Amino acid sequence: MSEDPKNWDVATKLIRGGLARSPFMETAEALYLTQGFTYDSAEGADRRFSGEDPGFVYSRFNNPTVKMFEDRLALLEGAEVCRATATGMAAVHSALMGLVRAGDHVVAGNALFGSCRWLIAEWLPRFGVETTFVDATDLSAWEAAIKSNTKAVLIETPSNPVLEITDIAAVSKLAHAVGAKVIVDNVFATPIFQQPLALGADVVVYSATKHIDGQGRVLGGAILTTDAINEEFYRDSMRHTGPSLSPFNAWVMLKGLETLDLRVRRQTDTAAALADVMAEHKKVTQVLYPFRADHKGYEVARKQMTGGGTVIALDLGSREAAFKFLNALEIVDISNNLGDAKSMATHPPTTTHRSVPEEMRPLLGVVEGGVRLSVGLESLSDLTRDVTRALDQA
Ligand SMILES: *Cc1c(COP(=O)(O)O)cnc(C)c1O
Repeated sequence: MSEDPKNWDVATKLIRGGLARSPFMETAEALYLTQGFTYDSAEGADRRFSGEDPGFVYSRFNNPTVKMFEDRLALLEGAEVCRATATGMAAVHSALMGLVRAGDHVVAGNALFGSCRWLIAEWLPRFGVETTFVDATDLSAWEAAIKSNTKAVLIETPSNPVLEITDIAAVSKLAHAVGAKVIVDNVFATPIFQQPLALGADVVVYSATKHIDGQGRVLGGAILTTDAINEEFYRDSMRHTGPSLSPFNAWVMLKGLETLDLRVRRQTDTAAALADVMAEHKKVTQVLYPFRADHKGYEVARKQMTGGGTVIALDLGSREAAFKFLNALEIVDISNNLGDAKSMATHPPTTTHRSVPEEMRPLLGVVEGGVRLSVGLESLSDLTRDVTRALDQA
């Protein structure tokens, strides 16, 4: 074959990448709902387990449907390897735990998804790993925090829920100077708008539950990195701890990837327009959207992303106004998912960021009047009418 999938455009990678047809030559990707595999002989099993014959042995290690999903996402991301996981948190957890041991140090941004923050604040310290939080928008804070025993740095950009932007290339340079690995949670930017590995990061993690499924059906996650990092840090730890993705969920995600580019671009066009509409409304104290010139991280966002993303953060000034806004929405759902085809809005302090101690919330931008709006695939005019009416009543 003269075609090299690595040279395909994104649209082609998303449809054709990783496709491995069975001898039946089915059109769609096959769903291999099997726990394991059989061998033609005892010698065949011996060769399979020794790695001499590279086939499948057990679905905790890999599975043909899961592998198609991993290969497609790796191709899209430009990564040597992808490891699919059961949830986004399984991906973040495995990505961090594989890199550290007692006595090591980890640095992360203050503004993180609630469960990611809990891992850093509560979980890693239980195993003797020291952790430091920094203002992720401040390079001098990263520089001051990273030290000789820092082994991992976790960046979420844009961050959840207030869309703070961290300069991936600059922080990677600081981390690499002490030999630390950089993990980027790329959920908000999606693989369509930001390629952290090309910017200098070592590991990318996704909650595939968000845009990659994008239709609210299944949970999943992924770790993308180099062969060398996978071999040294993740191969054994993931084999023996078992954060594996179900083949069924991998199959759903494969179909999700086929439309990822179309969905994310349309949702982003609508989000950018809606952010401008809402910024003009008198009930809105502040609109945060990375590609609006009034966003604090605008310059860096324009440098490292090719689109502003599907999520908008609003400040309506008080919890009362935020609740009135949410309750007045007729099309947009009140829900804590994001990246979905259905538009969804949530009040972070009482939902997604509930586990963040109250005194910490201002540091994360989690304010009482805050609303996070994930823009879906409905029409701009219907959404404009819905949010405008709800703002009028806020
Ligand atoms: C949702 C989310 C996660 C966790 O993903 P799950 O699939 O829910 O486990 C991690 N990071 C970010 C930024 C998220 O939005």
